[in-house]
Amino acid sequence: MKKRKFSGAVINKMQIKLPAISVNEGMARAAVAAFCASLDPAAIEIADIKCAVSEAVTNCIVHAYKNTSGLIYITVSLMEGRAVKIEIRDRGCGIENIKQARMPLFTTDREDERSGMGFTVMESFCDKVGVRSKVGVGTTVILYKQFVDRDT
Ligand code: ATP
Ligand code: MG
Repeated sequence: MKKRKFSGAVINKMQIKLPAISVNEGMARAAVAAFCASLDPAAIEIADIKCAVSEAVTNCIVHAYKNTSGLIYITVSLMEGRAVKIEIRDRGCGIENIKQARMPLFTTDREDERSGMGFTVMESFCDKVGVRSKVGVGTTVILYKQFVDRDT
């Protein structure tokens, strides 16, 4: 497979800030999907983006700000070459061990019957997933998606 670098010039950018409440999970994924629509992606690509955004935003609500309130910061960059970069940032509790958190079935929230599959879902629906986190400071998840060229 062709190696993707996601380093093209940014041609359009959207930034939104939402309270971390569950009603905003649907809002966030719809807003990101609508913004990406200018690249004329395939329906399946939009569905992939929605799914991955939904997992990342849900994590901000249920983990980062568990039993507290806070804001979710979302930045979407459309890049040359039909590539999309989506940053989902919180100022919540942070992740102690990122490598472990990204493992399939790992969860710190068994009592709420979480399955520990959120990061795995993000990885399977995106081309690349980056995670930066600091305990007590917050977490940024970066989703990269390359839309296929519709003219070929
Ligand atoms: P599921 O997504 O299947 O409902 P889950 O949320 O526990 O379960 P993942 O989304 O893969 O599974 O996340 C794994 C773990 O990483 C979480 O249990 C939590 O401990 C931690 N985590 C993920 N996102 C954040 C975040 N934004 N802030 C703090 N901790 C997080
Ligand atoms: Mg999750």
